[in-house]
Amino acid sequence: MDKHGILREYFGHTAFRNGQEELIDNILAGRDVLGIMPTGAGKSICYQVPALAMNGVTVVVSPLISLMTDQVAALVESGVKAAYINSSLTYPQYCEVFRRAREGRYKIIYVAPERLLTEEFLSLSESLEISMLTVDEAHCVSQWGQDFRPSYLKIVEYVRALSHRPVVSAFTATATGEVREDIGQMLELNDPFVITTGFDRKNLYFGVLRPSDKFSELAKIIRRNGDRTGIVYCLTRKTVEEVCEKLCSSGVAATRYHAGLSDAERRANQEDFICDRRTVMIATNAFGMGIDKSNVSYVVHYNMPKNIEGYYQEAGRAGRDGESAECILLYSGQDVRTNRFLIENCSDDNPEMTEEMRAEVRERDLQRLKEITFYSTTSGCLREYILRYFGERSPSYCGNCSNCSANFETVDITVEAQKIVSCVYRVNASGRSFGRTMIADILNGSKRERVISFGFDKLSTYGIMSDMTQKRIVKMIDFLIDNEWLALDGEYSVVKTTPKSAEIVRDRVTVEMKLEKEAPAERKIIIDHGVNEGLFVELRKMRSEFAAAEKVPAYIIFSDSALKDMCRKLPVTEEEFLSVSGVGKKKAERYGEVFCTFIEQYASEHPEIRSVGTAVKL
Ligand code: ADP
Ligand code: ZN
Repeated sequence: MDKHGILREYFGHTAFRNGQEELIDNILAGRDVLGIMPTGAGKSICYQVPALAMNGVTVVVSPLISLMTDQVAALVESGVKAAYINSSLTYPQYCEVFRRAREGRYKIIYVAPERLLTEEFLSLSESLEISMLTVDEAHCVSQWGQDFRPSYLKIVEYVRALSHRPVVSAFTATATGEVREDIGQMLELNDPFVITTGFDRKNLYFGVLRPSDKFSELAKIIRRNGDRTGIVYCLTRKTVEEVCEKLCSSGVAATRYHAGLSDAERRANQEDFICDRRTVMIATNAFGMGIDKSNVSYVVHYNMPKNIEGYYQEAGRAGRDGESAECILLYSGQDVRTNRFLIENCSDDNPEMTEEMRAEVRERDLQRLKEITFYSTTSGCLREYILRYFGERSPSYCGNCSNCSANFETVDITVEAQKIVSCVYRVNASGRSFGRTMIADILNGSKRERVISFGFDKLSTYGIMSDMTQKRIVKMIDFLIDNEWLALDGEYSVVKTTPKSAEIVRDRVTVEMKLEKEAPAERKIIIDHGVNEGLFVELRKMRSEFAAAEKVPAYIIFSDSALKDMCRKLPVTEEEFLSVSGVGKKKAERYGEVFCTFIEQYASEHPEIRSVGTAVKL
């Protein structure tokens, strides 16, 4: 079968997405590939389709058990012969998988990296025709990445040990320039075809809020999302505990996940979330890699995470089904301090790193922390900021982030910029340096004790911006920092002038920035209520029943988008059912009749849904 046939028949998709086809074609031509695609872009298809098109077996290295279990369940459900080999198997299961593998019964075998060099797996590999080796989450091989896994270094040894070298395909969602280089080298990719598809996730709304009360802001977000599912990331276990407890006692179906819980509880909580028994997951960053739940409608960061890579990966767990979803970061200055503390005191104890390497990593981590702090305080377009970070250019206004949609207006702050920069010069000239709020206090003419006690009320710049709130002045300072007219320096993030500062006070350049109008508009959330909502609810129920019977998460049976497409198309024949997005041959055979019969029945009882037909927007 050719690639289009496979895509249609096994995965139920009609067309390849951006980047998928090029990667597949190169693999099929025998060339190594490296695919860098954001979460949700559809990396799995890129190796699963060629795996089915080629003779022999594809071995997929994947870092996490949960990830493998999920992928294999989804493949088996779609009619692909797949299995995994990892420590979750009992000994008899393990023997059974090896036996079947030797008989050539699998097309795709997922394996944990630490198993690769075992004698058993090596001898199995020699007895099979391995056509491709796929490395999922390939950034784990890089020491400069944030998820370095020493066991990933075994991959290249494994490839070397094979008597016939298979084509190697590697995939990751996270890679800045140096990590990208590193992946190619560490995996010894042979003149690879490298593709970076756009990092933009158009269906995600990005927001940064600075609430005075984070918890009530969070409660508001959860409330407006109703029974849709969400993830809330916190920086520490303690915060996870607190937030989860408060939510539960206010009646939210929340659960929690962090490394301090027992394996059993972690597993149970994750399962509750994946199967929609609990709608909100409160977690540290230990939760997520390998969580392939496609119907997550929002991701809230209760604290600012420590870098943009991590943020974008975690936020990217929203809206994988392509439906609109929101990613909100609740920022406070304390988050910066906590992160700095964690970076400086809790560097991970990777025994393979020398003290020198550790220091270097710490330095990079602090630099990354700065970048996400800028993200959290910028008044520019958030999407543009993230994309620029990953080396992608995009317009400075996206219209789907809090900065773009919060009714910004362009304000000429030339005079204010001159006042601010002069104030920083004066303060520095007095032999001191202070953070942003102190500078703003001075300009604002604050009577706070620390301003007076340093004698700053005697400075000529004291109170020259008293017509403005302190908050607004801080925004302007942030903007000047973003544009290098000022800089944050040292452990206490004090404000300093830069070589560019002269442009402001001497050359008097015009400075314009987007500033919030005084009362920012609340974002309107479009809730998917349509006439067919009733049918959607019913289909979801049927899906849950199948999921329970087959002991797999609901989205493995059908994604929300597939159910919504059924509501739009109202299929009643198997052929029509096959036209539903996400429905392949196997699923049509298995569920087509039940769903079609139900839909037909429902439509006859609710004739109004036909008259609106495909025009219904869910
Ligand atoms: P990634 O691993 O890149 O995060 P996945 O491989 O899990 O992403 O795919 C994300 C979602 O996109 C899945 O629900 C998958 O079914 C869907 N998808 C992938 N490729 C296509 C395609 N060509 N057409 C439609 N949907 C697709
Ligand atoms: Zn924007």
